Amino acid sequence: MDKERLGLSSPHMSEEGFEQEYVQEAFDTNWIAPLGKNVNEFEHELVNYVGSQNGAALISGTAAIHMALKAADVKEGDIVICQSLTFSATANPIIYQGAKPVFVDSDKETWNMNPNLLRTALEKYPEAKAVIVVHLYGLSAKLDEITAICNEYNVTLIEDAAESLGTTYKDRATGTFGDYGVYSFNGNKIITTSGGGMLVSNDDERIQKVRFWSTQSKDKAKHYQHSEIGYNYRMSNITAGIGRGQLKVLNNRVEKKRYIHDFYKNELQQLTNIDFMPENQWNRPNFWLSVILLKGTDRNVLIDALEKENIETRPVWKPMHLQPVFANYDHIGGEISEQLFKEGICLPSDTKMTDDDLYRVTTVIKREMSNEE
Ligand SMILES: *Cc1c(COP(=O)(O)O)cnc(C)c1O
Repeated sequence: MDKERLGLSSPHMSEEGFEQEYVQEAFDTNWIAPLGKNVNEFEHELVNYVGSQNGAALISGTAAIHMALKAADVKEGDIVICQSLTFSATANPIIYQGAKPVFVDSDKETWNMNPNLLRTALEKYPEAKAVIVVHLYGLSAKLDEITAICNEYNVTLIEDAAESLGTTYKDRATGTFGDYGVYSFNGNKIITTSGGGMLVSNDDERIQKVRFWSTQSKDKAKHYQHSEIGYNYRMSNITAGIGRGQLKVLNNRVEKKRYIHDFYKNELQQLTNIDFMPENQWNRPNFWLSVILLKGTDRNVLIDALEKENIETRPVWKPMHLQPVFANYDHIGGEISEQLFKEGICLPSDTKMTDDDLYRVTTVIKREMSNEE
């Protein structure tokens, strides 16, 4: 088989070479080491793009979630309520802080945290320190309901917007509704810096504190003096240069992702045994990945058939409450995320794909899914 591999999502640098210009500038000024103009400007430009006030550029989205929890004063033994249907990087930092996750199920209309179950969780754990909601695949959670409940219980809201940069909820960017918002620039995300993340917040004092912790918590003194534990989490000036270039093409990437999603939907909607991602009028998703649900058939059969044609697909995230590593923690509900995991397949959604590439995918799906009838 010599067919070219079609992957889920891979780095896509600008045709204009914007990223290289910023990196070259860093070389020319010997600003290779951490910090420098690109880091400051990247923070500034991203914060402007999403409509937040302050940002700290960090080495990963995971580090940003960790710093958000620390900024929210999450400590040993505290409870953190976390969406169950997500990637493990959402939940791991809860453990880094010695806190205890409580996992909450999703709802069908958004695939993200069910506000009613969040309320149930907060009634059971009113002492919870923070809530982490996720906007999976660029779909947004029910932010009005979730922010209202978090205000009522006076609990810090962290939005894991790692997959939803470029997504809006009621015309405002996801990641700007909670006390903290987290973005990721990992290689598979809608834009990438090869690896990186950003924590945003309107609380300037907390973001300055995060910059302090993430550069080894150096007190103001001539010698090395530390009164707090530090981390080496700051983004480098080279990496930030890639990010600045990528930000310039983010809107194009969103439009292409949306085109890919519409293409699949148009081509596949005649198949009665396939469902699509939920669409809500208050949400404009970036469709980071296009996902279909298979009704009444084994998703692994289709995954294997596509793999034979050198087409990469993946099941939807396995919920955290089903993960062996989190088996000892409480969860509220779970059926919806379990069903999405069982039925869902992420399709190739690479912004470099051509129509011919997309037809390669839909041809196999039509062949396989028509046989099932
Ligand atoms: C990618 C991702 C992260 C982690 O981001 P990194 O930059 O890879 O550390 C966190 N949460 C979700 C939902 C993600 O998809």
